[in-house]
Amino acid sequence: MSPTRPQRITVLGATGSIGVSTLDVIARHPDRFTVFALTAHSQADLLREQCLKFRPRYAVLGDQRSADMLQGALRESGCATEVLAGVEALETVSSHADTDAVMAAIVGAAGLRPTLAAARAGKRVLLANKEALVLSGQLFMDAVARSGSVLLPIDSEHNAVFQSLPTDYARDPTAAGVRRVLLTASGGPFRDRPLSDLDAVTPEQACAHPNWVMGRKISVDSATMMNKGLEVIEAHWLFGVPADRIEVVVHPQSVIHSMVDYADGSVIAQLGNPDMRTPIANALAWPERIESGVKPLDLFEIGRFTFERPDLERFPCLRLAYEALRAGGSAPAVLNAANEEAVAAFLDGRIGFRQIGEVISSTLEQVARMPVDSLDAVLAADAQGRAAAYVEIRKRARR
Ligand code: NAD
Ligand code: MG
Repeated sequence: MSPTRPQRITVLGATGSIGVSTLDVIARHPDRFTVFALTAHSQADLLREQCLKFRPRYAVLGDQRSADMLQGALRESGCATEVLAGVEALETVSSHADTDAVMAAIVGAAGLRPTLAAARAGKRVLLANKEALVLSGQLFMDAVARSGSVLLPIDSEHNAVFQSLPTDYARDPTAAGVRRVLLTASGGPFRDRPLSDLDAVTPEQACAHPNWVMGRKISVDSATMMNKGLEVIEAHWLFGVPADRIEVVVHPQSVIHSMVDYADGSVIAQLGNPDMRTPIANALAWPERIESGVKPLDLFEIGRFTFERPDLERFPCLRLAYEALRAGGSAPAVLNAANEEAVAAFLDGRIGFRQIGEVISSTLEQVARMPVDSLDAVLAADAQGRAAAYVEIRKRARR
């Protein structure tokens, strides 16, 4: 059964890897979905093409000048999309009365305010922007509970866990008999490299993920395994499971996307080819299932699955994320802020790959832990983390 009127979708971060995959799935189902708003930070050319194809009511760009230029170009092409600029405009489109669902696919802490605005407005929130949840944890989940928003995970691991849990899990998590959540991880491009080589790896090598094609920031996070660390924190908030019952399992084939281990010994997993259109289609149509463009899984071609424990000496970022989750309060926000600054510094060649973990570790040692019970407190923790990380980066800077 198809819904009576198409769902009106806002895509935050439409020009990124998740945004483009989302529009690919939407385009396959014009009877089910229309596009209400598309946003991008600076890629105005791609946003223009997307506007001409999907004809949204609104488009949003980071600054007014590029928004004015895009507005002119769209008018010339006879497209009625209204172009807005800035952070407030992101919040306007994500909480607008005429949007039903928001794909939160901005990268990093920049996505927090519009994603939280969507949750507060009771929208169906399709959450790819894990950093927003890492930063604001309890605050975000409280906003979802208060507004009655439906929160659907897009991260492949969390979408797999979501699919492996009973449908009424949120109503009574204790009744479900969940023993552990098993998050799978590919181990990234440096799983087998000698440790001594890691000092000299380049951003291009770090971004060459063996199984997934993603934005540059999450690709570096996958190479350090901070991505998995952020996902442990994300799983804690999404599923209400404590740190010691979330286990990371390295599974280099990236076919089992995650698992739930139950009290009776059953382990339920979700499998599929590594293509984000599967979790995107799952969340867009939930609780129904629709075609996504992903090719069927060929188990004979894959042949075998392997599993390893993560190596915490090679991947200190994963250990730091567990520590921040256990410390609580502002620690995850500071971890995230230090990571964003350190990854940006690595991507512009200011620090080496292994210094990403050093910067985060020193930052966490320096910034005092505070409670984070308001958006202002979250933003203050984020700013403190960035300031301390900046000093740590300067100490190690190559240039
Ligand atoms: P990306 O870098 O490809 O795209 C990011 C998008 O955010 C772009 O549209 C960009 O214009 C926008 N953006 C960047 N900075 C912004 C700012 N300051 N203000 C407003 N918009 C801004 O990133 P991605 O790989 O698509 O990842 C997006 C989010 O999804 C991240 O949080 C990532 O962790 C998560 N995620 C991605 C994947 C994946 O396969 N790519 C998988 C799981 C989760
Ligand atoms: Mg993931």
